[in-house]
Amino acid sequence: LICVKDIRKVYHLGTEKVVALNRINLSIEQGEICCILGTSGSGKSTLLNIMAGLEKPSRGSVFIDGVDIAKLSERQLAVFRQKNIGFIFQSYNLMPTLTAVENVAMPLMFKGIGKKSRNGQAVKMLKAVKLGNRMHHKPTQMSGGQQQRVGIARAFVAHPKIVFADEPTGNLDSKTTIEVMEMIVGLARKHHETLILVTHDREIAQYADRIVHLLDGNIKSDKANEALFVPGEQPQESAG
Ligand code: ATP
Ligand code: MG
Repeated sequence: LICVKDIRKVYHLGTEKVVALNRINLSIEQGEICCILGTSGSGKSTLLNIMAGLEKPSRGSVFIDGVDIAKLSERQLAVFRQKNIGFIFQSYNLMPTLTAVENVAMPLMFKGIGKKSRNGQAVKMLKAVKLGNRMHHKPTQMSGGQQQRVGIARAFVAHPKIVFADEPTGNLDSKTTIEVMEMIVGLARKHHETLILVTHDREIAQYADRIVHLLDGNIKSDKANEALFVPGEQPQESAG
């Protein structure tokens, strides 16, 4: 589904050169739950933003469903993103003037779906993230965890092929983190959607099927998650 080929990203700050990504190759299948794990500054957000078409690489290409996203015009890319991609942000990024339902309905509006149907789907999605009693609240009237659940509902409502999440629980306490992570992973699995999750936290990485470890702009390791986290159970001891 996603194919990252020889991606390099260099930032130039005056005379200084920052190599954020060195030479990244990555292939992600439909339905995979993939975590990009690494310490601060390792290049996680840069890689995610390049995969989502929000930033341009210095070199290399990203193919989504066989489409080289660098070859799309700005306009085509915007349409492509609206159709195929959902994004969950650390700081929620909800529209402050809109209610929960209106925020969640936004991606459906971009898809040209009529108001009544949009509303129905947004309500259904908000109920799925247990916000049936917060439909008409605005972001400032909700807790951080509630706002992020609105963000999750918005990311999944239009059933995009890929949902990208950059430190989605970075501003949440540990109890809320578990709730939010279970919701994100639960929705992705239910609809067989591809989830790319960025985190610096090894525990959060345990929700993924696969963990790609970034170090200083390079992939240090890329492997299946052996201790796959089962909600409500302790991680299994390996046999033998
Ligand atoms: P964090 O966990 O702190 O979010 P990260 O792994 O997401 O870190 P990136 O934001 O991808 O890291 O940054 C990778 C490197 O690129 C860092 O050294 C950072 O300073 C540099 N960098 C990122 N964005 C820019 C920019 N716009 N201009 C210059 N340098 C940048
Ligand atoms: Mg980051």
